[in-house]
Amino acid sequence: MKILQKGFNYSQDGPGNRLVYHTQGCNFRCKWCSNPESMAADYTKAKDYTCEEIIDEIMRSRMMFFDGGGVTFTGGEPTLQLSELKKILSSVKKEGINTAIETNGSSERLPELSELIDFLIMDIKQPDDKIHRKFIGASNKKTIENFKKLSQERTQLHIRIPLINHVNTDPKPFVDLFSHADMKNTTVEVLRYHEFGKDKWTSEYEITDGFVSDEQFICFCRALESIGVKIIST
Ligand code: SF4
Repeated sequence: MKILQKGFNYSQDGPGNRLVYHTQGCNFRCKWCSNPESMAADYTKAKDYTCEEIIDEIMRSRMMFFDGGGVTFTGGEPTLQLSELKKILSSVKKEGINTAIETNGSSERLPELSELIDFLIMDIKQPDDKIHRKFIGASNKKTIENFKKLSQERTQLHIRIPLINHVNTDPKPFVDLFSHADMKNTTVEVLRYHEFGKDKWTSEYEITDGFVSDEQFICFCRALESIGVKIIST
């Protein structure tokens, strides 16, 4: 499996203390991406590990998974390496390790992983496909389909929305989406735009006015809460 970086963090990408693998390669091109080096599948600083090496490392880290922690695969986009991911998640889940992934939700095969994942984080950046294509360079069709399917099937689904001025601060498309979905087992996290990865871009960074005001943030969250959406922060 191609991995860009790995390390522990607490409660940011799933519950408790977690070993987090950032996989290499992404099929989206979000104009605000804070890890632009993770997009190209052939980035030379990424390292190759066999599934066995990763499984072994996870098992050896068990003692560190306190407070309900475990392992998380995030991106890039982890489902681009789906066969390897499936193999690793199956093995460690059998051993009782808590598993999580963060995905852009675009893989047709994402539902295959669902029962191997305890904590599924799916990013929904913009439900309007035309705007999604403009800022992300790809359709959101599969993400929306997967969201609708998995929100009905799973006992837990966590949606992340990066809130960006001029990209998605109008809550209406999200209200339309969530009010027609099964939200009883779904939580939503709204993350304000930041520029942490800006200096890593080697091509032009096109977001010039992405910060959201307190008012925009509160209005957005209130609009979702008004239809019963559970908003949490991690
Ligand atoms: S989906 Fe995530 S990793 Fe991929 S380009 Fe967008 S922000 Fe970056």
